[in-house]
Amino acid sequence: MSIALFTLGGTIAMGGVGRDGPGVVTRLTGADLTAAVPGLADLGLPMDVRDALAVPSAHLTYRHLLDVVDAASRAVAAGATGVVVTQGTDTLEESAFLADLVWPHAAPLVFTGAMRNPTLAGADGPANLLAAARVAAAPAARDLGVLVTLNDEVHAARWVRKTHSTSTATFASPNAGPVGHVIEGEVRVLARPERREPLPPVDPARLDVTRVALHTVTLDDDGGLLDGLADTHHGLVVAGFGVGHVPGVLAPVLGALAERIPVVLTSRSGAGSVLRHTYGAVGSETDLQRRGLWNGGLLDPYKAKVLLRLLLAGGADRAAIAAALARHG
Ligand code: ASP
Repeated sequence: MSIALFTLGGTIAMGGVGRDGPGVVTRLTGADLTAAVPGLADLGLPMDVRDALAVPSAHLTYRHLLDVVDAASRAVAAGATGVVVTQGTDTLEESAFLADLVWPHAAPLVFTGAMRNPTLAGADGPANLLAAARVAAAPAARDLGVLVTLNDEVHAARWVRKTHSTSTATFASPNAGPVGHVIEGEVRVLARPERREPLPPVDPARLDVTRVALHTVTLDDDGGLLDGLADTHHGLVVAGFGVGHVPGVLAPVLGALAERIPVVLTSRSGAGSVLRHTYGAVGSETDLQRRGLWNGGLLDPYKAKVLLRLLLAGGADRAAIAAALARHG
């Protein structure tokens, strides 16, 4: 049994101060991180530690993440029982979902990070890394897709959200709850989400140039920001009000865009689904679907954007996009 650990920076690896002023910056290597975890050596799990990147998670790109997923795949093919990825928590829900869409293995791929950096009292990185290693090694965690482990909870990447800017209990799955917990060091799995076929591999160069926008609808939104969008982007995700509604004046703007590029309707509410056939006003979900918008179902706006960008970069046609939204939404 062995674990591969890939480090990408983030608060879990931050310490000291930067050159340009006060504030912690990424300093710690994977070796530093593992050395700081009481009990990790006692697990008897050899760790193959690879420092992939040392950046705040706001700097990560799809290309970086797919490179890590490829390297993680090779580690599993070479015999690793599971893989842990450490990164900043800000974009972790998107990274983990991106990885989940393409991860083909039964072996767990577990993302973790920290909310309190190692210079603070009660830094949570060591406990999170230890729990993530336990999950990566756990037979019960096999075949669950990509997982996120922080605060002794195990979340499915497909459902997890960062819900608080500072709390150590920030990661939650509002629609489903955690799929498991780490209790006295034991990984207890309570729910087993059905695995989905991984998306076909995408050409990285094509991915780099595939542009998908996300527009969050706000009160009295006149849609001015969307002017010319179909000339510069290949797809759009709309984070609408509540169950998928927008101001009446925005409905024809979105309809015109949907004639040129795929437009996916999601909710800005943070939990729950957009509806399909309940409301009938201009700008309601039925009106927007009639105008050609795709229904994103339970996908939150950020996950819908990840999915749509991967699909478009992979050359998906309308039928493939519809099928993928039905599967993931
Ligand atoms: N800003 C940090 C990052 O995402 C926050 C964190 O790691 O929790 O890199």
